[in-house]
Amino acid sequence: MGGSTRPDASADKDRSGPPTLVVWDAELVHYDFGRTHPLHPVRLELTMDLAMRAGVLNGPDVIVRPAGLASDELIELVHDPAYVQAVRHLPESATRRLAVAFGLGTPDNPVFASMHEAAARVTGATLAATQAVWTRQYGHGVSLAGGLHHAMRRAASGFCIYNDPAVAIAWLLGNGASRVAYVDVDVHHGDGVQAAFYDDPRVLTISLHQSGRTLFPGTGFPEESGVGEATGTSVNVALPPSTGDEGWLRAFSGVVPVLLREFRPEILITQNGCDTHYLDPLADLTLSVEGQRASYQALHDLAHEVCAGRWVACGGGGYALASVVPRAWTHLLAVACHMPLDCSRPVPDDWRRAAAERVRDATGSTAGDDLPPGRFGDGADIGFHTWDAGEGDPDDPLDRAVAATRREILPLHGLDPLGDR
Ligand SMILES: [Zn+2]
Ligand SMILES: [Zn+2]
Repeated sequence: MGGSTRPDASADKDRSGPPTLVVWDAELVHYDFGRTHPLHPVRLELTMDLAMRAGVLNGPDVIVRPAGLASDELIELVHDPAYVQAVRHLPESATRRLAVAFGLGTPDNPVFASMHEAAARVTGATLAATQAVWTRQYGHGVSLAGGLHHAMRRAASGFCIYNDPAVAIAWLLGNGASRVAYVDVDVHHGDGVQAAFYDDPRVLTISLHQSGRTLFPGTGFPEESGVGEATGTSVNVALPPSTGDEGWLRAFSGVVPVLLREFRPEILITQNGCDTHYLDPLADLTLSVEGQRASYQALHDLAHEVCAGRWVACGGGGYALASVVPRAWTHLLAVACHMPLDCSRPVPDDWRRAAAERVRDATGSTAGDDLPPGRFGDGADIGFHTWDAGEGDPDDPLDRAVAATRREILPLHGLDPLGDR
């Protein structure tokens, strides 16, 4: 049993605290695999434009500024130097065999001009947001271009060249942090970040995603819990396909708060991919923008509860370029800037028309030609039952997935998987 919970729409806990840093720079759109690739940078441009029009970035406590490229030295905290050299030189000297050995030159990760610079700029953005929050100059940091969570030590994977959240976490560990939490709500497993810290007890990674049985990258099961002293610090919730707001938020409530409270991180890094939406073309979960907004609000509130508000929010996946990403991430920015947006608020008509046209021009596709929805929400009702004590309903695939993760992980932290949150 559990209470029906509606997340608080306006947990303005720190309007008087330090400002929020949004790292943005038009150069970030050069992370671009080409017109027909799903990860099209037009989604970032449209998001910043919509957020600006919604007034989210004009508040007194928000600073928007660019950042430079991450240095090789910092990128090599998590990537092999030979891989970094390959990324730098492949666009000019592409030998296909070499490219493929590093996961590049494939349909998912094609080689493009200046891709080292483009990827290093994304990493630089997430690093700048992280450094600003760690040094307490800013309360929250946002890096929407970041969240490239699939990149591995010596290979590109799943549209990701350099793993910016992993580089940021490695930087934190080298600069005094001893407990860093990473929560990944993208529809895909955060495999690259998990792999980077699989044996490091200082980093707790939690990923909620559509099960690898039915989706790329095919990993992220509860048994993947870390090794050695780090056992219990890799956490995976493998959700059944077609999980919607109610199930997703219930799963989150059964796993994320209890572990963050127990781990007591000094800082929270989140990957906020919005490819969990029902309109997303690459995956099969069925969240609404209301559900995604509730996840952002919950992560924000947990950061205030467990780590004095130190929160760095990255972007991630999201392939409904005009209809979902700009609305979802305008909410993310709004939450991070303490100016939460009402879901019933209308999206400006001129923005909707311009966005549809911009996507047509940028991608050459008339698929998804329709105007983006007219409101900041989808009209969804996100009442749900929080996970309380017990096993849940053994006949419900969602409850079985959550129970499997709790049984695997909670005892490793001295917690009772059947206990209350
Ligand atoms: Zn806050
Ligand atoms: Zn994804």
